[in-house]
Amino acid sequence: MSAPASLARELACTGCGATYPLTYRLECAACRGLLELRYDLETLRCRGPALLEGRGLWRYASVLPVADPAHRVSLGEGDTPLLDCPRLARDLGVQSLAIKFEGANPTGTVKDRSSATAIGAALQFGFRAISVVSTGNAGSSIAAYAARAGLRSFIFAYERASAPKVLHMAATASDFVVYSGGYDDLIGPWDRLAGEGLFFDGGASRNAYKHEGKKTLAYEIAEQSGWTPPDVVVAPVAVGETFIAAARGFREMETAGWIARRPRMIAAQATRANPVSRAFREGGPVAPVTIGYTVAEGLAAGNPGRKGEWVLRLLREDKGLAGDAEDEAILAAQRRLARTEGIWAGPTGVATLAVLAGMLERREVDPGQRFCVVVTETGLKTEAALPARGGTAFDDASLRRLVEERLRR
Ligand SMILES: *Cc1c(COP(=O)(O)O)cnc(C)c1O
Ligand SMILES: [Zn+2]
Repeated sequence: MSAPASLARELACTGCGATYPLTYRLECAACRGLLELRYDLETLRCRGPALLEGRGLWRYASVLPVADPAHRVSLGEGDTPLLDCPRLARDLGVQSLAIKFEGANPTGTVKDRSSATAIGAALQFGFRAISVVSTGNAGSSIAAYAARAGLRSFIFAYERASAPKVLHMAATASDFVVYSGGYDDLIGPWDRLAGEGLFFDGGASRNAYKHEGKKTLAYEIAEQSGWTPPDVVVAPVAVGETFIAAARGFREMETAGWIARRPRMIAAQATRANPVSRAFREGGPVAPVTIGYTVAEGLAAGNPGRKGEWVLRLLREDKGLAGDAEDEAILAAQRRLARTEGIWAGPTGVATLAVLAGMLERREVDPGQRFCVVVTETGLKTEAALPARGGTAFDDASLRRLVEERLRR
């Protein structure tokens, strides 16, 4: 099977509009603005979804910036289920609700989408090493994809990352380093090294090539909905990569005529790390906040930088909404999703559901709409207190008694 050609054509500055050829560049030379990729939308419009080919993330290679099929590294990412959730919908009092479950990705999180294009671009531009500062998920994902491609990975990991994430990173990384303090403390010095090109930038704050993989989230939601996407999509915001990429994907499809109307987007944060939702509420710019620990570890970024502003701009242009949820509400959403639909997600992954549940309770959104909640991680990478589990010894009679008794309840 022939692989679809990439329709990426140039990089464009989101600040001043300057354009650049498709080289490795992290920011605008004129204004230091963030760059985004632009595509040949005319071909997208003419050919329509018929130009998609194959399965998984690289099915959308035409709208990704990795030109050579040999650079399209894969561990089987993408093609995650869009699960219709009637019981949860009833429980929340909404007409229709689907969960886009990103826990089904190879390393258990949405990060695999951006890792695939990050590693692909690192190969494209001839890098031998990639690096990332991570609270756990990005680290294990970048390390896994780097290993898959034979690249060196410098993974700087948060000292409070959960044990399963640490095991995963330590196993897959070529260079695994634990840092003390928070993400916000290390990202400044690390960004300066990344800017010098010592390694390929595997971080979320600037690299347009890495960022782009998460756009496939929107393409999949649209395709899985028969090109009639839901009315509302709830997506999380830490640095903003997932949210911006998904919003850009829906806009691209609308411009190319693949969908009639793009969904309204809701940005979800943890209350303990809520600079974007706070700025949205107060109507001002994003001010960095000093954060403590939140169970939503992957959302623990108090300073999203320019991507935070980008999220706000998208929300304001599209009449989107932003909200945040307390840790207790996030843990309640985690239990609720597991019990009502059998979907076991980590706290970071269900912040979206917790935020939507809060908005519905406060009647800030119309329950008559079709909702899609992006749940970004599996629950299998989380560490938490175990339920009490003193064991019981059973014989035939006592086992029968227990089961029959419980079934009568
Ligand atoms: C990284 C991450 C996010 C969101 O991060 P962004 O930087 O805003 O894209 C959400 N959920 C999980 C599980 C993550 O690992
Ligand atoms: Zn510029």
